Amino acid sequence: MSTEKKKSDSGSASAPPALPAPLKDLKIKYTKIFINNEWHDSVSGKTFPVINPATGEKICDVSEGDKEDVDKAVKAARKAFELGSRWRTMDASERGRLLNKLADLIERDRLLLATMESINGGKLFPNSYMMDLGGCINTLRYCAGWADKIQGRTIPMDGNYFTFTRHEPIGVCGQIIPWNFPLVMFIWKIAPALCCGNTVVIKPAEQTPLTALHMGSLIIEAGFPPGVVNIVPGYGPTAGAAIAHHMDVDKVAFTGSTEVGKKIKEAAGKSNLKRVTLELGGKSPIIVFADADLDNAVEFAHIGVFYHQGQCCIAGSRLFVEEKIYDEFVRRCVEKAKKKTLGDPLVSGIHQGPQIDQEQYGKILELIESGKKEGAKLECGGGPWGEKGFFIQPTVFSNVTDDMRIAKEEIFGPVQQIMKFKTVEEVIKRANNTQYGLAAGVFTKDLDKALMFTAALQAGVVWVNCYSALSAQGPFGGFKMSGNGREMGEYGLQEYTEVKTVAIKIPQKNS
Ligand code: NAP
Ligand code: MG
Repeated sequence: MSTEKKKSDSGSASAPPALPAPLKDLKIKYTKIFINNEWHDSVSGKTFPVINPATGEKICDVSEGDKEDVDKAVKAARKAFELGSRWRTMDASERGRLLNKLADLIERDRLLLATMESINGGKLFPNSYMMDLGGCINTLRYCAGWADKIQGRTIPMDGNYFTFTRHEPIGVCGQIIPWNFPLVMFIWKIAPALCCGNTVVIKPAEQTPLTALHMGSLIIEAGFPPGVVNIVPGYGPTAGAAIAHHMDVDKVAFTGSTEVGKKIKEAAGKSNLKRVTLELGGKSPIIVFADADLDNAVEFAHIGVFYHQGQCCIAGSRLFVEEKIYDEFVRRCVEKAKKKTLGDPLVSGIHQGPQIDQEQYGKILELIESGKKEGAKLECGGGPWGEKGFFIQPTVFSNVTDDMRIAKEEIFGPVQQIMKFKTVEEVIKRANNTQYGLAAGVFTKDLDKALMFTAALQAGVVWVNCYSALSAQGPFGGFKMSGNGREMGEYGLQEYTEVKTVAIKIPQKNS
């Protein structure tokens, strides 16, 4: 979820391994539904094709889960969560050990998983290997460390009572994830849920089920009891909706579009009022003042919108640049975008791979056309690239105004919008003038100005003189229509427990 730039700045806990070459002749072993630590065909017998977005060719077919399969998975998850079950009676420290073991197994299979993620998700191999796999391992270890540190309090309640709180697991957690960070999202969902003692039914995105299914095999190998994690590949309106509407699912955690996020909340309201956390879209502002370190700002603004072909919820897709440096800043952004080499994400030296599928490809190209029509100045790119796969030229628009569709809608593609501003008051207003509130960046050397922006910007995360700095320790989530609740960090773990107050009558309390 973070960037090349960030890697060198962040100083991760353990030194990352050297980058190997991608695995040749990748074999796909796991293509079925994972329930109760076993592999199942779908009840309907149906399968769906999984496509390599760099070529448009089929990789394999995967069992297509639907409502009946979700029912089976929820039953398994409920059984694993029963009072007295192996999972419920396990020491919390043992849950931590299992999560650490899972991290060890991912480390062992890192090359295979990174290669699979790149082939299935169109992700540049160095990013898959270093960033995505590194993020997964760190997240699991972070949650493993918390497993035996989730604790209640004793409370000095009025009256003669001994009162304490228990932080209990919620129960069966339905989890629905997108295709842009398939394995990272899988781990961001299951790790906190398992750390707190829940059981899980997770649906990977239809485009990218392969690494999630490989994780099924590692979950068995790590020693998780049957039914604790169940993985149901399938489509959103069928398998996803079945999870969201299920009467025996206690919580749903969703990452994806705001449009579907609304449906998830509605489904919770129409069914059993299950707890809902949502991590949705964004149209995040990056604000660059004339006093900023321009090389740094150009670099982060570029990575902030072009990382993973622009397919990031935090994409900094509204770039506000102070009038005095506007022309120079645009020139440098265009220069950077033009230097990008497109191609097979497995080949070294490639800077940009394909978009995930035909639908996203079409949507992005349509938005680019709207930018041209509405009068933005196309500085570079602006069309498709190559003869196969779903590639789009790195595109930069200048002279963008706030009313244009490219300034309002989430594009989720390699398209940078550069706007001009004059005053602090004006840019705060414009930056916040959106239904979204996921992330924001501000670039300035003036500490007072930077701090003022950290308060003024309506976003779940504000980066100062950097962008996309994310890690397992920091809570992540959105204001406004970018979501509900937080993931990761201690705040994220709180979304996976219920707090129970226990009051015991005693003869006489003493202070
Ligand atoms: P999406 O439809 O929101 O997909 C996210 C997940 O929700 C997928 O697993 C999807 O299943 C599932 N889903 C879809 N409809 C559902 C329903 N009615 N009930 C329950 N689950 C449902 O996202 P998308 O169509 O892949 O992408 C569309 C746009 O969403 C993008 O252009 C981008 O703007 C945004 N997006 C945001 C993020 C993010 O990280 N916040 C990630 C991806 C996309 P399927 O596999 O069948 O789609
Ligand atoms: Mg979809």
